Amino acid sequence: MGAPDGVTVNTIQPHQAVKEYTCPGCDLTIAPGTFHLAVVPEEAPDLRRHWHHGCWHKELRRRFGAQASRR
Ligand SMILES: [Zn+2]
Repeated sequence: MGAPDGVTVNTIQPHQAVKEYTCPGCDLTIAPGTFHLAVVPEEAPDLRRHWHHGCWHKELRRRFGAQASRR
């Protein structure tokens, strides 16, 4: 799975997901124990956000279009 330039995408395995997060893609809760992604802007690591896998892929297509899907 590729990430666009400027962000680091970390996969969070179910056993690592011990807190609830709100996905910025759909505004729904990511329950503890859910496989998901943590997206960290390299320029602003404080702005790390947790995304559902599917929501991040939609976001990638929205932000970067076909460019991102080729990676
Ligand atoms: Zn989501």
